[in-house]
Amino acid sequence: TAPFDVDRVRADFPILTREVHGKPLVYLDNAATTQKPRAVLDRLARYYSHENANVHRGVHFLSADGTEHYEEARRSVQRFVGAEHAREVVFTRGTTESINLVAHGFARGGFLASGDEILVSALEHHANVVPWQMAAEVTGATLRVIPMTDRGDLDLTDLDSLINERTRIVAVTHTSNALGTVTPLAKIIAAARAMDVPVLVDGAQATPHAAVDVQALGADFFVFSSHKTYGPTGIGVLWGREAWLDKLPPYQGGGDMIENVTFEKTTYTGLPGKFEAGTPHVAGGIGLGAAVEYLMDLGMENVAAHEADLVSYAEAQLGAVEGLTFVGTPEARASAISFLLDGIHPYDAGTVLDRLGIAVRTGQHCAQPVMDRLGVPGTVRASFGLYNTRAEVDVLIDGLSRVRTLFG
Ligand code: PMP
Repeated sequence: TAPFDVDRVRADFPILTREVHGKPLVYLDNAATTQKPRAVLDRLARYYSHENANVHRGVHFLSADGTEHYEEARRSVQRFVGAEHAREVVFTRGTTESINLVAHGFARGGFLASGDEILVSALEHHANVVPWQMAAEVTGATLRVIPMTDRGDLDLTDLDSLINERTRIVAVTHTSNALGTVTPLAKIIAAARAMDVPVLVDGAQATPHAAVDVQALGADFFVFSSHKTYGPTGIGVLWGREAWLDKLPPYQGGGDMIENVTFEKTTYTGLPGKFEAGTPHVAGGIGLGAAVEYLMDLGMENVAAHEADLVSYAEAQLGAVEGLTFVGTPEARASAISFLLDGIHPYDAGTVLDRLGIAVRTGQHCAQPVMDRLGVPGTVRASFGLYNTRAEVDVLIDGLSRVRTLFG
């Protein structure tokens, strides 16, 4: 891979040249969704212009060709996350659906019962809380929580009692979308494995920022969203160890996921088809394939190094802004920085920044328990992607002084 050249990379993203309210767009809401490189946009156009057909069905040329491209995309994702087999890569609608699929499978498959425990962490996005609460509700299992410190790190002091003989699954995020905390996954996974407890990792904020190797990670499930990883919306990934995916019941029933159907009994096809009922998001899968190929060409180590520089620069610059308080000062951080300005509502700050062309997120970031734990109603969050620059951080800093003059 060539050395990382952010100007060259920016030229790959057509949207970055547009203006918002007459100002150059400074896009710092990458934790919500990332922009798409031309490689993805062109791939989608080519698919719909030249290749569109339903997959896994027809004998005709386009259907067979489309199937080949769709399955090739699955192999790209396999390489991107380091999976042993392509059939361990299940296409879903996104992180949310991937987690629901596993939680539903645990509940319906008899892997959860009254008295059992599900362990999540205090840093989870609602998507890694609510599906487990729903599974607990129908099975009588209990949800337990790894607590967090005031700095926004997970507190592993009681991990050995939190993971016990009643624990059936540990579901924990790789990186917090609200605070940017990178969690101590190695320790958590080692503790879970020692007790033979499976682990699901929410990788929604991992795959855009760092190289992932699911085999080295040692988890049993790893999930992420295409749209946060420079790919199209409406598609995402569930990686699961084959042994687990074999054991879990299907999530939805329909075409494409069956082997034999009679009104008396239906048998299901093997992996990954068992979890992909109905016509899949073919274009999405192919677009995601293009996105991860683009990222692998750039080199995720290069992306991570560029963003690490950007985040430490942003932390230093933001730290010097008068009246600014960080919400969360985690030991290890990726991409997202949350903060408050003294006496200024996050929404007001976000609105002024928007007028200056700067896109940040304000509010609870779908992580209400994190906000409650830290005693804040919400935050302003700047979250970085591979195309952001130090100059854009400077624009944000100028924007914040404008906010302070208006409201301070
Ligand atoms: N988990 C984390 C850590 C996230 O950041 C998000 C998206 N903000 C989700 C889960 C849910 O992802 P999606 O909405 O793409 O399903």
